[in-house]
Amino acid sequence: MEQTQTVQRDEIDGVPAFTAPGPARVTGALVFGVGVRDETWATLGVTHLIEHLVMGSFPKSHLECNATVDVESTVFHATGRPEAVAAFLTGVCTALADLPTDRLDLEVGILQAENCSGSHPTAAALWAARFRLDGPGLAYAGGGVPEFLDEDTVRAHARRWFVRSNAALVWHGNLPEGLRLPLPDGVAPLRPSPVARPQAGPEWLTGPAVGAGLLLTVRDGLDAATSLTLDVLLERVRDVARHERGLSYHADLVLVDVAAGHREAALLVDAREGQEAEVARLLWQQFEALCAAGPSAEEVAHAVAGFAEFTEGGDDLVLTDLLRAAFCRVFGLPSRTAAESLAAWRTVEPHDVRTAARALRPSALLVLPEGVDPGPLEGIGRRHLCNVVPELPAGTTFRPPLLARLRHPAARTRLVVGDAGLAEQDADGDVHVIPWSEVEAAVAASTGEGVFVVGRNLCGIQVHEEVFGRRAVDAVRARLPRHVWVSAPRPAVEERVPSPQR
Ligand SMILES: [Zn+2]
Repeated sequence: MEQTQTVQRDEIDGVPAFTAPGPARVTGALVFGVGVRDETWATLGVTHLIEHLVMGSFPKSHLECNATVDVESTVFHATGRPEAVAAFLTGVCTALADLPTDRLDLEVGILQAENCSGSHPTAAALWAARFRLDGPGLAYAGGGVPEFLDEDTVRAHARRWFVRSNAALVWHGNLPEGLRLPLPDGVAPLRPSPVARPQAGPEWLTGPAVGAGLLLTVRDGLDAATSLTLDVLLERVRDVARHERGLSYHADLVLVDVAAGHREAALLVDAREGQEAEVARLLWQQFEALCAAGPSAEEVAHAVAGFAEFTEGGDDLVLTDLLRAAFCRVFGLPSRTAAESLAAWRTVEPHDVRTAARALRPSALLVLPEGVDPGPLEGIGRRHLCNVVPELPAGTTFRPPLLARLRHPAARTRLVVGDAGLAEQDADGDVHVIPWSEVEAAVAASTGEGVFVVGRNLCGIQVHEEVFGRRAVDAVRARLPRHVWVSAPRPAVEERVPSPQR
């Protein structure tokens, strides 16, 4: 039996509400359209910190409640007696309206100790390859762990994003009369669309991934043939990798709705150590096969049957529909229920899947862990994750002292400070360039004179007096605009600066 029309639309205190009758133990959730993509390098972790401050404001209770921050959304949720869940959500709103910042330092310490980015590293590497240090690509720099935040920044972020116009309520079960959602008013925050890096066709790269991943740009999130393509590909990779070759244990699909008409679908496949290249080849070859010949009728039927089984899922399905409706409302996207999607899936033919796969192909990005060589791959070109260029640009050159270069191969580097930007040739001979206009942040060294320059193009260049001399540090400082400097670093910050590739 197909369920439709289970989702009821309502409004509570100006917050759009998506409700459905359900179990006596109700589930309530508040969804906000804010996540790591709405931070900057300097404010990374601020959303996660706000979530911690809010959750930490509740006294201990037996209510089953939690909160999550991912790349595009923040969700507070609880399951239990209706009055208890209502009280929890009201409490979330109250805390968001006036953040309890007295525990700010404590929570920053906790988050730094947890050091949890909240995103799958392979997905983060793929998003960075697509968007560089912008939008979902920020997850690559370690979203979730605050480094440079002060109270004003945290409060400003809460005031801008955790407002009535950027929220939606999900309620599954009996809705109590007295539910209040006293969120602050505020204009619906504008979410700039990150710009995708241009590419001429499918590309592969290495990065801080575990296993292999494939990123594809989906223009119409409601297109059934495209959804089926992703499902069939996932099933193929699971079958071949796990069952036939014993290579991998887990394959998953992560979707991010970047904007209306722009979804990024990441297929993530675990690999046993040493098998990453094989898994990446398999992922690419299966996708190419789907583009060339499409799926079999059996594969399509199997995918549709699997989805049909899911839509019989009772309470889980209702909650899925409610959450999807809430996300779409907050993100400004069209939405439909799983049952409606199933009806669309039933009309898809194998050749539709082939057409959909071919439409995805030009946007394909395949990522492997650093140092892994996939061997020859057909139909896909190589590129670097960050901005590697053929040769050093013109400018003033600085080198480590001769003795250091002779003793330490790692010191065989060259720094160029030019009119166009900052460049470094690393010990491997690769040249990294950060145009001055693309500097995202500058972090002062914690000891001695130095600066770590972070590029939006994912390059990171360390300039320290002990390596390149004081003159080099001064030359770089003179070029850096004031606004890129983040506040004074905490001790040992340099070891913690996540990712941007050297
Ligand atoms: Zn680089």
